Amino acid sequence: MPAPTHAKVIIIGSGPAGLTAALYAGRANLAPIVFAGHMYGGQLMLTTEVENYPGFVDGIMGPELMEAFRAQAERFGSIIHNVDVTAVDFTKRPFVVRTYEDEYTADSVIVATGASARWLDIPGEARLRGRGVSTCATCDGAFFREKHIAVVGGGDSAMEEALFLTRFGRKVTVIHRRDSLRASKIMADRALNHEKISFIWNTAVEEVIGEDNTTALRLKNLIDGEETTLAADALFIAIGHDPNTAIFSGQLTLDKAGYIVSDDGVKTNVEGVFVAGDVYDIRYKQAVTAAGMGCKAAIDAEKYLESLETHHKAAVSVG
Ligand code: NAP
Repeated sequence: MPAPTHAKVIIIGSGPAGLTAALYAGRANLAPIVFAGHMYGGQLMLTTEVENYPGFVDGIMGPELMEAFRAQAERFGSIIHNVDVTAVDFTKRPFVVRTYEDEYTADSVIVATGASARWLDIPGEARLRGRGVSTCATCDGAFFREKHIAVVGGGDSAMEEALFLTRFGRKVTVIHRRDSLRASKIMADRALNHEKISFIWNTAVEEVIGEDNTTALRLKNLIDGEETTLAADALFIAIGHDPNTAIFSGQLTLDKAGYIVSDDGVKTNVEGVFVAGDVYDIRYKQAVTAAGMGCKAAIDAEKYLESLETHHKAAVSVG
């Protein structure tokens, strides 16, 4: 049988939000089609140990958790394609969702495309990406055994990256633009008390220096403007994320930063199109909150589909 190209629910995204939506939609017998993206699994695929997902007393590795999410969604009939969505048309009914090769239609859509790591946009960064410059310690940390590794950022991601990188580097230096951390107290304390980690405060990274590989960073003190050079073999950038909403521009209402706007954190401005996870959520951004939103989006999509059927039956009986 050829794979279906129409679904009652299409889910775009495969992090905790998308795959929880798939699990719930699957259990509601809606046979959702999930576009997981070619880099499926969302941000937890790029992380190490997840200690704050409830139910795992000793923590669980991010990729392992996402494989379990996926298997559970598939168990209840989700059809998951590891391809990217390239365009949508929410002005038509059914809604249209395009990939590079095919066109699909859906009666409802759940958008759970998440967010992607932000870059500094400084000289040398793009050129030395993959040659010392990275946004993923899990992916690239092991290349820098016994090296001096720099991390930029002051949030939980930066602390997590710095702590993880102590497994490899002989020394880890966190460079932060202010004099206090945004990270949660537990993560901040761990990093501040780690013998291999030191901090450079009130400082911006202005340039990544190196021919074939990263060798140094040009730094600027933001209080007195003094510029210095710090020898470093790698720079891990952990300064937050931007929402993945380029394909929804002109289709859904987005805020100034590009996040999808929703009054209740589930419905978008288009009836029948729902949102879940980091593509909407600028406040909590946790795997467990994303999963909760995925659940809510699927339940609301199911209710919406029921209301469509009720209208349809009423129209048929009147006709
Ligand atoms: P975040 O909390 O937004 O922190 C981003 C950090 O990068 C901030 O310290 C910010 O500085 C800095 N920054 C932003 N733009 C910069 C730029 N252009 N140049 C230099 N520095 C810049 O992002 P996050 O750390 O990715 O965390 C996102 C969310 O995920 C948070 O809710 C966090 O709690 C959660 N998270 C949790 C865990 C965990 O619990 N284990 C792990 C990772 C993430 P300022 O402080 O000056 O704004």
